[in-house]
Amino acid sequence: MDLNLKNKVIIITGGSKGIGEAITRLASDEGAVPVIAGRNRETGESLLSELKDKGRQAHFIEVELGTKESCQLVVNETLKKFGRIDALVNNAGANDSIGLEHGSPEKFLGSLFNNLYHYYYLAHYCLDELKKSKGSIVNISSKTAITGQGNTSGYAASKGAQLALTREWAVELLKYGIRVNAVIPAEVMTPLYRNWINTFADPEEKLKKITKNIPLGNRMTTSGEIASMVVYLISEQASHITGQWIFVDGGYVHLDRALSAAE
Ligand code: NAP
Repeated sequence: MDLNLKNKVIIITGGSKGIGEAITRLASDEGAVPVIAGRNRETGESLLSELKDKGRQAHFIEVELGTKESCQLVVNETLKKFGRIDALVNNAGANDSIGLEHGSPEKFLGSLFNNLYHYYYLAHYCLDELKKSKGSIVNISSKTAITGQGNTSGYAASKGAQLALTREWAVELLKYGIRVNAVIPAEVMTPLYRNWINTFADPEEKLKKITKNIPLGNRMTTSGEIASMVVYLISEQASHITGQWIFVDGGYVHLDRALSAAE
C-alpha cells in the first residue's frame, strides 16, 4: 500500500520522544518531512541530526507549547522553511497527577495549558494551510478520558476535551475536506510511562499487574503500533475516515479483562 506521503510536511508535537518519536521516524521512512515541535532540545537535535545523516528532510523547533505565541511561531517557522503544511499531529502532553483532592485551581489550569490548549492553538494557526492542502489532523488522546484514572483531573479533562474537539473539528472542517481523527493509547512504554511506573514502590510488580490485564498478548502496546495508525490516518489511504476515536490498545478498554490470550 502506497501511503503517498512523499514530501508531505507534518508537524508532530513532542515528536522526539516516546510515541511522538515513533511517529516522526515512521513519517520520515514514508518520505514525509517531519517538523518536530517540542521543548526537549537534546532529543530533538539528536533525532534531527540522525534523520539528516540519512539524507532526509526534517526540522526541529525547540518550543514550550503552553502559549498561543509559541504555537504561532511553530506554524510560521514551518511555512518559512517548507512553504506548506499537510498534517498536524497533536501529541505533546504529560500525565501530571493534578488531582481533585490534592490539586488546586491554579495547578488544574496549568495542566490544561500543558496538555490541551496547544491542541487548539496549533489547529487554529495551521488551518489556512490545511485548507490549501486538504490536509488532516490527528489528536493523540488517552484511555484516561474514557476510564478515568484517579488523581489526574487536569490530564483527564484535557484528554476528554481532545476527543470532543476531534468530533467538533471533523464536523466544522467537512466543507474543506480536512479529516480529523483521534488515536487513543492505553499502556505504551515511553520515557513518560517509565517515569510514572517508577513512582510505585515495586515498578516491575506493578507493570506485571498492568500487562496481565491487557487482553491481546498480555503486553504493552509499542510506540511503533501507535505510529502505524497515525501515519495511516494522515495518508490518503484513510481518505474516508473522519471524526473517529481509534483505540490502539490490545483491547484494553473494550474487551473483558477477565479474558486471557492463553485461554
Ligand atoms: P513522552 O515520552 O514524555 O514524550 C512526550 C514529548 O512531548 C516529550 O519530549 C516532552 O518534552 C514533550 N512535551 C510534553 N509537553 C510539552 C509541551 N507543553 N511543550 C513542548 N513539548 C512538550 O510521552 P509519551 O508517553 O510519548 O506521550 C505522548 C502522548 O501520548 C501524550 O499526549 C500522552 O498523553 C499520550 N498517551 C501516552 C500513553 C502511554 O502509555 N505512554 C498512554 C495514553 C496516552 P520533555 O521531554 O521535556 O518532557
